[in-house]
Amino acid sequence: MKKRMIEMICPNCRHSFYILKDTMLLYEGKGTDHERLMNSEYFFHQCQKCLNLFEMNYPLLIRFTRKNLCLILSDSSQLPDLDNQTVIRTRKPADFELIYQALDLGITIKELVEIREECSRQDIGLKQLIDVDGSKILAMSTNGLIRINRVSSDLGRVDESNR
Ligand SMILES: [Zn+2]
Repeated sequence: MKKRMIEMICPNCRHSFYILKDTMLLYEGKGTDHERLMNSEYFFHQCQKCLNLFEMNYPLLIRFTRKNLCLILSDSSQLPDLDNQTVIRTRKPADFELIYQALDLGITIKELVEIREECSRQDIGLKQLIDVDGSKILAMSTNGLIRINRVSSDLGRVDESNR
């Protein structure tokens, strides 16, 4: 959709470079960008100089036309003028990906907040939301795969060795 040259600095070796990135996308539910967002790896980039893998943070807007909703990654409190659209804004790429996954899986923001609260109660780092076999939300955490019951937010470990 829209692309821009963005200046990046590797946090490890301070190598500075320009990279062409999308700044606006339309949600399509398929394709490489979609897969990378669903896998929580969209913002990762490997430095060509020191090979360090790091998370890039730059302004990105994704339009969910059917939901009449815009998901925005931005540090600025000034948001673009978007008539009659629901706007969800976040500052962190990792949160942006989780919200994207929730929207794709039909998880409401309220449910996502509950999932996060449950994870933090159990001291689990939520990394990714996955729908396995249509059994609904599974959350990839730092400790493995966690099953989340959408109604009661009960969590039980499913399979630590998975992935
Ligand atoms: Zn580097």
